[in-house]
Amino acid sequence: MDAEVFRAWIRSAAEVVEANRDHLTQLDAAIGDADHGINLARGFAAALEALDAHDRGAAAPMTPGKILTVTGRTIISKVGGAAGPLYGMAFRRAGKSLADAADVDLPTLSAALDAALAGVQQLGAAVEGDKTMVDALAAGNRAFSKAIAEGASQDDALSVLAEAASVGAVTTIPMQARKGRASYLGPRSVGHEDPGAASTALILGALRDAARIR
Ligand code: ADP
Ligand code: MG
Repeated sequence: MDAEVFRAWIRSAAEVVEANRDHLTQLDAAIGDADHGINLARGFAAALEALDAHDRGAAAPMTPGKILTVTGRTIISKVGGAAGPLYGMAFRRAGKSLADAADVDLPTLSAALDAALAGVQQLGAAVEGDKTMVDALAAGNRAFSKAIAEGASQDDALSVLAEAASVGAVTTIPMQARKGRASYLGPRSVGHEDPGAASTALILGALRDAARIR
């Protein structure tokens, strides 16, 4: 997967987040403050703009790692609340993990997604079962590395990643939130899908779609 794929990922993530802006915001209305879709749509739109601006000014094209680093940095600067710093950290750590690779194979991508998860957990201290984006990302990453170890094709492995993240998001429904704003609700957080887990599943679905187009 070359820089074009990673660029297409951010574009596709921006599109799917925008298309699901109201849905994500409604999920956040149930157990938070109804801003998750708005926050993320703004962040990804700004990331796309930053990538375009960089292209206009730079002599050398960006590497996959640089694309993710710029995306993370922009999300941090444009999105407040919990999700901005957490997603920003995730993309920056993934970008750092890719280093200056021009072409990213499945194990390298898997390591980058693991680095993203470690960054999210370092910053937010959530573990699986706390009803956060960690539930989607950890489930996705685990299934992804298993699929790679079993010799799955790129498309199959990325489909497994996206599908497992979606399942991970759905598993947050019966959970009681132990981190973030939703934890203030205590038992009343039960019965709702976590918005950050839902958006993580969408963003990983965008990665599968972006790699498929190429
Ligand atoms: P805020 O809660 O500040 O309004 P958002 O609504 O944009 O921010 O994002 C909420 C999402 O952030 C939650 O659904 C959850 O997935 C995620 N989140 C919140 N706190 C944490 C944490 N400590 N670790 C991981 N994810 C978290
Ligand atoms: Mg919110």
